[in-house]
Amino acid sequence: MLSPWKRLTQTFGLRGLEDRTESSSPDRNSIELCARVVHEARQPLAAARAAFELLRRSTDDAQRNRAYAVIERQFERLTRVVDDLLEAARIHLGKVPLQVQQLDLRSVVEDVAESVRPQVVEKNQRLTIHVPPEPVWMNGDGVRLEQVVSNLVVNGIKYTDRGGRVSICLTLLPKGAELRVSDTGRGISGELLPHIFEPFVRGDTRSQDGLGVGLAIARQFVELHHGTIRALSAGAGNGSEFIVTLPASSTFYRPAGAPGPTIPVSGPGPRS
Ligand code: ADP
Repeated sequence: MLSPWKRLTQTFGLRGLEDRTESSSPDRNSIELCARVVHEARQPLAAARAAFELLRRSTDDAQRNRAYAVIERQFERLTRVVDDLLEAARIHLGKVPLQVQQLDLRSVVEDVAESVRPQVVEKNQRLTIHVPPEPVWMNGDGVRLEQVVSNLVVNGIKYTDRGGRVSICLTLLPKGAELRVSDTGRGISGELLPHIFEPFVRGDTRSQDGLGVGLAIARQFVELHHGTIRALSAGAGNGSEFIVTLPASSTFYRPAGAPGPTIPVSGPGPRS
């Protein structure tokens, strides 16, 4: 029987690397990662190529419009793969500049909810949002925080079947803000749960796309904001819940004579 290493190198045509033994392959992780990236990129490229072909041949407007939509979606997917990789590399190298300003977390949540609407409609799911009536002020990087919320909500949609529910609940507690993103989806096994925030860790690697970096990125961004993130699930088939806490308050605070609203802050060094 072929070893997993040989299978990997043959599947992806990595000539010259087939004969290495497992122990003499210091770059195995990198090759595996490359293979995964190639796999992720191949599908949208093939779909976009088929759509280009259709554009070339078809004179039917409806068909051509559908082809344009496919191309747009696949390019978005490719862009996400590239962006995720870049972000993971930046985090690893400790090069994540935060643009901190006072923001109302409610608008971060509302913007994300708005942006995922088409995916929710497509999967015939129900998305519920709960935000407090008073503002939830914090000092943070709006773009990064939006990425955190978006990664959690998009996962909720992705790992929940058609017709399921995803909910986002933001509350203001005495010590800060708490954001809960929960779903009625496939849930997380007890085996996976303790490792879920590690980079490149994925659950079912056969059926879903994704590089396994979304949650690692979310954790890093939350921690850069002095917050915490954890995942709960009663196991496979029982849905999941992600809980983020962030320092926030209902009072807008701007010290007298404070500098402009944007204060760049550097991320931490590489993690071991
Ligand atoms: P990706 O989704 O790209 O694989 P993530 O880092 O976002 O990477 O998630 C890592 C793994 O955690 C996923 O492969 C999936 O198995 C599991 N996971 C994340 N969110 C959920 C969820 N809401 N429900 C079930 N499983 C989840």
